[in-house]
Amino acid sequence: MPWCPKCGAEFRPGFTECNTCHIPLIDHKPDGTETIPAPDPAEERARRRDRRRQRALRVLQTLIVILLALAAVFLLQGNG
Ligand SMILES: [Zn+2]
Repeated sequence: MPWCPKCGAEFRPGFTECNTCHIPLIDHKPDGTETIPAPDPAEERARRRDRRRQRALRVLQTLIVILLALAAVFLLQGNG
C-alpha cells in the first residue's frame, strides 16, 4: 500500500504522490530497518550545511573565550 513518509497517510495502489504533501509515496510503511527518504534532499542538504556552520561558529566562540581567559591570566601574572 503506497504510504506518505511525511504525513503517514495510506493511499490506494496506483497513487504515486501524496495529495497533501506533494511528495513521492513509498511502497509500504517502513518497518524500522529502512530509512525514509527525505522530503526535499536539497532543503535537507542546506539545513545540514547550516548546522555545520553554526557548530563551527560555536567552536570559534569557545576558542575566543579561552584565548581571552588565557590573555587575562597572563596579564594578571605580568602585573603580579
Ligand atoms: Zn503526505
